[in-house]
Parts: sequence; structure tokens; C-alpha cells
Amino acid sequence: MTRAPSVTTLDALARLLGPKGFTADPDAMAPWLTDWRGKYHGAAAAMLSPATTEEVAAVVTLCAENDVALVPQGGNSGMVGGATPDESGNALLLSTRRMNHIRIIDEATQFAIVEAGVILEHLHEAALEHGLRFPLTLGGKGSATIGGLVSTNAGGTQVLRHGTMRALVAGIEAVLPDGSIFDGLAPLKKDNRGYDLRHLLCGAEGTLGIVTAACLRLVPAVAARRTAWTGLESPESARRLLRRLDTAIGGELEGFEIIPHSCLDAVLRHIPQTRAPLSGVYPWYALIELAGEREEALDSALQTELTSALEAGLLDDVVIAKNDRESEDFWRLRDSISEAERAEGPAIQHDISVPVDLMPAFIGENPQRLANAFPGVRALSFGHLGDGNVHHHVQPPVDVDGKAWLAEHGEALSRLVYSHVIELGGSISAEHGIGQMKRDMLAELDSPARLAALRGIKAGLDPAGLFNPGKLIG
Ligand SMILES: Cc1cc2nc3c(=O)[nH]c(=O)nc-3n(C[C@H](O)[C@H](O)[C@H](O)COP(=O)(O)OP(=O)(O)OC[C@H]3O[C@@H](n4cnc5c(N)ncnc54)[C@H](O)[C@@H]3O)c2cc1C
Repeated sequence: MTRAPSVTTLDALARLLGPKGFTADPDAMAPWLTDWRGKYHGAAAAMLSPATTEEVAAVVTLCAENDVALVPQGGNSGMVGGATPDESGNALLLSTRRMNHIRIIDEATQFAIVEAGVILEHLHEAALEHGLRFPLTLGGKGSATIGGLVSTNAGGTQVLRHGTMRALVAGIEAVLPDGSIFDGLAPLKKDNRGYDLRHLLCGAEGTLGIVTAACLRLVPAVAARRTAWTGLESPESARRLLRRLDTAIGGELEGFEIIPHSCLDAVLRHIPQTRAPLSGVYPWYALIELAGEREEALDSALQTELTSALEAGLLDDVVIAKNDRESEDFWRLRDSISEAERAEGPAIQHDISVPVDLMPAFIGENPQRLANAFPGVRALSFGHLGDGNVHHHVQPPVDVDGKAWLAEHGEALSRLVYSHVIELGGSISAEHGIGQMKRDMLAELDSPARLAALRGIKAGLDPAGLFNPGKLIG
């Protein structure tokens, strides 16, 4: 049972953190009490911004002694309301913004030790100065922090080759709910001491520990990159093309995104200075990217494989970007889809995954299932086919008040989407996490065995439920 912090507790926290680390000023806290999408609004008794791991540990110890809940927050760019406290105002917001030091970038071992509040883009820049790269990027890179990325096990556009955060976190430092510091930063290749706390904390959404730093794997900076845009008949052709490229040049294949024509069309209509890469119109497009050491080798591999795929009828047309500028233009089309979709009117979004080979079945069948239950709705999927993850957006019928229609039918519609995903052995959250947005849906649809295990882990590590209550399974 959590309680509102007493004046004595708040005074003790203010003394502990000093004026830079403590505020209860409503105006200063306001921007951090609404989530990125403006969907969730919360309240907090105070916002704490500790500067060191020891300060985090002291804060957690004090809160544990007084049954006060803590909501960790990094860049507040999460998509599921995970970093927004509830409306009671009893919780404290714990921001990692002042823990923003890159402790080490080691060129020899290609590891970086990075504090939780470091912004992803800053890590990219710092790694590049050492001729290295942190191979994870996403649209929110100017705001998302390492702590948030670890805690949501974030993905992005390079997962195909380098994996999600879980694959890139070689070590972790965190403060556990009793205030103890778990120092697991050493990048051990082998470690068989039982349950892996590092992996448990990745994707825990702040419900099991406050991540204070991570040891991250780096790779050499990209020397050469090649991007192609292809026109295709169907998601099944795209899947077969992906498999073919993966077998032939999998080591260099970094991105494989699919886009239906309706999405490209929306981008071309709503986003200024965009143009279609191909002169013909095709039902689907695949955006393919290779990264490697030598330009000539990439060129030749891509040319050879795409020509033979063209001959085999797996694709209908293709253009390879001639330079970085063209490559960026291709990616801009892909990255502008969400913005263009917003301009089209209200829609309900689903971030789902199924096994890669079942993705064409999902994309093909789900719109019909939805239309049978809700005549007139339009569903479209785009995104990371190579990861078996698409963003599945559903628009209301054209002749209704879209917002009101979604408010009435959105939940039932999402249930149909998620039930189909689960039927195919997939996940109702591929990238963004559960937060408060999908908490009830997870409790309803996930397997009882899995839910019981998750609840057992939470109860074992945080018996008083002080870390990020109301999120994930709380
Ligand atoms: C334009 C845009 C594009 C995006 N694209 C992608 C994408 O392609 N792939 C993807 O995976 N995500 C994407 N996201 C979502 C978002 O960027 C990620 O979820 C990111 O990991 C959030 O980082 P953050 O620092 O903003 O975390 P926050 O939003 O502050 O927090 C997210 C969750 O992590 C917890 N948390 C934060 N810091 C800590 C910590 N130090 N210790 C413990 N818990 C903590 C919070 O309590 C919350 O539950 C995108 C977001 C935007 C705005």
C-alpha cells in the first residue's frame, strides 16, 4: 500500500538533493506530467532529479521506509504512458535528466558505460568521435534516454542486424526497490549465476529497478551504406525477398521496411518536398538498407541480388539511391508515415509482432476480420517486416465522427487485432511496451502462466509495489 509523502519526507528529500534535484513547483513539473502523445495526465507530490547512483539509492531507501511510490522518467518520449504518474498526486516523479554522463567509451573493447539520462543522439555523436557507432536509432532519438531505452527494451530501424536493447546491453547498474545498488556493469561474456537481472531489468518499464547506467556494445562506424526502394506485389513477395537477401547478404542487411501504396500516397499528399522514388505505382514497397565496410562490395552484392530477385519475379521494379541525399529521401518517406497518417484523420494504432513468416498472413487477413465486425473500417500495416513487427493502423469508417467512433469502438477493435496476433503466437507490444495503455489488455489476453510468473517476479523484488505502480502488471 503506497502513501502520500509526508511533509517530513519531502523535507528530507529536498535536503538530500538540494535545489537542483528537488522541486514541488507545479509549473516546473507540468511538462513532465503529460505523456508524449498528450493522452495521459498525472500528478506528483514532487519531482526528484538525483545526480548520482548514490543519490538514487538514498532516495529509494527513504521512499521505501515511508511507503512512497516512485515513477522513473527519462526523456518522456514513451508511447504507452509508462512514465506518467497516476492522478492521485501521491507518487514522486524521479527524473534521470541530471545523470547524463558518458563515463567511458573504450575503443579497444568497443564498449561504452553510459548513465541513464544520456540522450540517445548524444551517445551517437560521442561514439562517432571515436570511430564507433551505437547501432540503435529511432525517431525519438533527440529525447529518448539510455535508461528509458533499456527499460522499454527499445527497437528501431536496425534491429534486423543488431537486435533490440536487450542484445546491446552488456552490463547494467540499477537501484533495486529496497534501495540496494546492483552493480552488474562488467560486460561478462559468460555468467551462469542463475536468473539474469540484466535481462530482467531490460523491458521492466521501471517496475523492478531504477536503471542508473548501462554498459553498451558499440560497433565500428558505418563506412558505406546502400539503400534501395523496390515495388512489390504483396507482403508475401516482400517476405520471400527478405529471406533471399538474408541468406545471401544477411551480415550486411540492416533494414527491411515495408510500405503499402496507401501510406506512400498519404506521405506524398501531406509532406512537402517528397516524391515517389519509382515512376510506377505498386501495391507495396520495400525499403532495404545494407551497411558495411566497402562501397563497391555493397554495390555489387545489392545489384546482383536485386537483379536476380527481379528475374525471379519477387519484385517488379527497383531503384538504388545514388548518394546519401537520395538515401535520406527514401528514409524520409518511411519516417513521415505517422505524420501523414495523422493528417489523414484519427486512427487507432497497434504496435504488434508475429513470427516473420506469418506476417503476410496477418497483414492479409486482419483487415477483412476487422471489416466483417466493423463495416467500413480501413486497416493498413507498415514497418519492420524484417523484425516481424508492423505498425497496424485502423481508420474509422469515412462517414462518421472519427474520434467519437473510436472512443466507442476502439477497445473492441483492438481486442480483435490483438486476439489475431495471439492466435499467430505474436505479441501485443513489439516495441513500445505495456505502460498504462495496454495494461488491462495484457491482463486479459496474455497466458495465465506468463502473467503469474511476471506477477511473482514483481512481488519478489518490489513487495510493496512502490516502483511505477499501475504500469505493466501493477
Ligand atoms: C518520434 C518517436 C519515434 C519512436 N520510435 C520508436 C521506435 O522505433 N522503436 C521503439 O522501441 N520506440 C520508439 N519510440 C518510443 C520511445 O522513444 C522509446 O520507448 C524510448 O525508449 C523511451 O525513452 P525515454 O527516455 O523517453 O523514456 P520515458 O518515456 O521517460 O520512459 C519510458 C519507460 O521507461 C521507464 N524508465 C525511464 N527511465 C528509466 C530508468 N532510468 N530506470 C527505470 N525505468 C525507466 C519509465 O518509467 C517508463 O515506463 C519512439 C518515440 C517517438 C517520440
